Amino acid sequence: MRKLLLLLFGFILACWGTLVLFIVGGSDAHAQTYPLPAQQAKSSVALTFDDGPSAYTPQILNVLQRNGVRATFFSVGQQVQGHPGITQETSQAGDVIGNHSWSHPDLTLLTPSQIRGQLSRTSEEIQRVTGVSPTLFRPPYGAMNATVRGTAEQLGLRPVLWNVDTGDWQRPGVNAIIRSVLDHASNGSIVLMHDGGGDRSQTVQALPQIISELRQRGFVFVTE
Ligand code: ZN
Repeated sequence: MRKLLLLLFGFILACWGTLVLFIVGGSDAHAQTYPLPAQQAKSSVALTFDDGPSAYTPQILNVLQRNGVRATFFSVGQQVQGHPGITQETSQAGDVIGNHSWSHPDLTLLTPSQIRGQLSRTSEEIQRVTGVSPTLFRPPYGAMNATVRGTAEQLGLRPVLWNVDTGDWQRPGVNAIIRSVLDHASNGSIVLMHDGGGDRSQTVQALPQIISELRQRGFVFVTE
């Protein structure tokens, strides 16, 4: 009889414990299953601009600053030399300046010493103008081999390519540039655009909508 009472008591305790666990655990599980939008993990996207600086760069900086967005500019050394003021403005805005070679050749066609010259001269010029030595490098045309990669690494430059190509340099139209980003952006995307090398007015016009729509989808903007 005593054994039976103990068993009954134990059973009631066990039921109570399960109920408490269910209430506590249940509400937790609910919170995890249906997070509020603000609690969702954000996706990140990096906007990158190649071939500048040029006369279009200040317009791009203006859009970025108005929206509180920072980006990465892979600058061509001889363009930096020709536009030191714009280069300084870019750096002072908090944007990152990377090395995109001195004169935009296909580096895989050059000798090792030519490759080193293209990269080191550009890093030195960016350092001279902004006070900051670049740590990122994007090879022109994305063309890279072991020698290019090794030389970059010896100079403290980390190669960064892209995975969303807007094709903006071909001037496909403002909407086509916007669509190319919105159709392909996902967490960790690196978007390739251009602030130099030709007429970049379509890129400038596309940028505000790219930023606002990515933001609406919960993306945050990162520089590396
Ligand atoms: Zn380029």
